[in-house]
Amino acid sequence: MDRADVIILGGGLIGLALASALDSSGLSAIVVDPADPEQWKNAAFDGRTSAVSSSSMRMLQTIGVANHLPEPGCPIRTIQAADGLDPGGLAFETGEDDEPLGWMNENRNLRAAFRTRAEAGRKLWLLWKSRAVAAERSESGVMVSLEDGRKLSAPLLVAAEGRNSPTREAAGIRIARWRYDHTAIVSVLRHEHPHDNIAYEIFYPTGPFALLPMTDDAAGHRSAIVWSIRSDEAPGLLSLCEEDFAAEARAAMGGFLGDISLAASRSTYPLGFHHAAQITGKRLALVGDSAHAMHPIAGQGLNVGFRDVAALAQVLVEGARIGLDLGDQQLLDRYQRWRSLDTLMVAMATDGLTRIYGVPGRAASAVRRVGMSIIDRIAPVKDRLMAEARGTSGELPLLLRGLPI
Ligand SMILES: Cc1cc2nc3c(=O)[nH]c(=O)nc-3n(C[C@H](O)[C@H](O)[C@H](O)COP(=O)(O)OP(=O)(O)OC[C@H]3O[C@@H](n4cnc5c(N)ncnc54)[C@H](O)[C@@H]3O)c2cc1C
Repeated sequence: MDRADVIILGGGLIGLALASALDSSGLSAIVVDPADPEQWKNAAFDGRTSAVSSSSMRMLQTIGVANHLPEPGCPIRTIQAADGLDPGGLAFETGEDDEPLGWMNENRNLRAAFRTRAEAGRKLWLLWKSRAVAAERSESGVMVSLEDGRKLSAPLLVAAEGRNSPTREAAGIRIARWRYDHTAIVSVLRHEHPHDNIAYEIFYPTGPFALLPMTDDAAGHRSAIVWSIRSDEAPGLLSLCEEDFAAEARAAMGGFLGDISLAASRSTYPLGFHHAAQITGKRLALVGDSAHAMHPIAGQGLNVGFRDVAALAQVLVEGARIGLDLGDQQLLDRYQRWRSLDTLMVAMATDGLTRIYGVPGRAASAVRRVGMSIIDRIAPVKDRLMAEARGTSGELPLLLRGLPI
């Protein structure tokens, strides 16, 4: 147990995705995380619902995670973007028989499914409530010392530690980082009329209001909200009683879903951007939020992380098959080349959207509406944006095509 092919620091959704992908192809991994996953069962731990793109969902099926989800999630068939409550805007639609743009899944269900899959791994060891106190990366390999005195070794170290990755910092990898003056309020709304599998992005200068379809439950129709507002406005909205908060949400989204009420508690997330100048070092690779984090405006952070996982797993498994050391610089260079452009493009696109829609005033709104109506009429541009939402653009790793490595 003290030696594996890969040591993964971080057992969030991205770390467990990588562990499961490696296990599916016969490589071994040790996952180290100071957290106690039992706390994931607490509904208040992570109240988010994530848009999992179609290609990400294919990977979850291929690596044996999707079959542990209590339901496949709610398909997103249309994304409707609008500048405030002005009529018009931009719609990305798929037919009933087409693959959906993505699937909305509650994070607590994703976490439970990933954990169950990883615990069943033949060559996976999950060290929860364990902390690495040192990680030495030398020519011959990686040695990780844990707080309790245990030592682990592997040819490769992967950091999946989230935004404030200590391993990234210790490796001296520079990042570009800035804070948005935005806080996201996340919750679930119950509504009178069905959502028809439409995801709405309603843009305001103070931040976007996203309304994301969820599967109906016994009590009726539901949608998740990610309501980005100026950080100084968050305490006021959070202090409202549930009825008043629902009334504010209804005002922000318009009345098209009929009567609404709050169906879950509210939680908040400060929003920021960071992007690592490089995603590899000596015997080191970064994945997920350790490498990049972006505004949730387009629901891409987790999906970009899953793309890191699919690419890194493929590079490592193919390298192992031809007998390479898994910390070999050639393999890490291939991973770096494969992922750098895609992550930068998505990060800059989401940052650009945040800024464009952050400009207040009627003139800016008019320009945005013209822009949206132009995109709406140019089929190749729309097709490209839909491929981005599905996660099917660029050179897709095997797992994202639903193929085992
Ligand atoms: C409001 C909001 C809505 C979002 N919606 C979407 C969406 O719809 N679709 C989408 O694709 N993305 C979405 N995202 C982004 C997505 O949630 C993140 O990109 C994703 O959760 C990152 O996962 P991760 O595993 O990389 O990091 P984390 O979830 O942060 O996990 C990091 C793990 O590392 C562990 N850790 C920390 N320090 C150490 C250490 N020193 N050693 C070992 N382990 C350590 C932590 O305990 C944790 O388990 C959203 C984000 C926000 C804020």
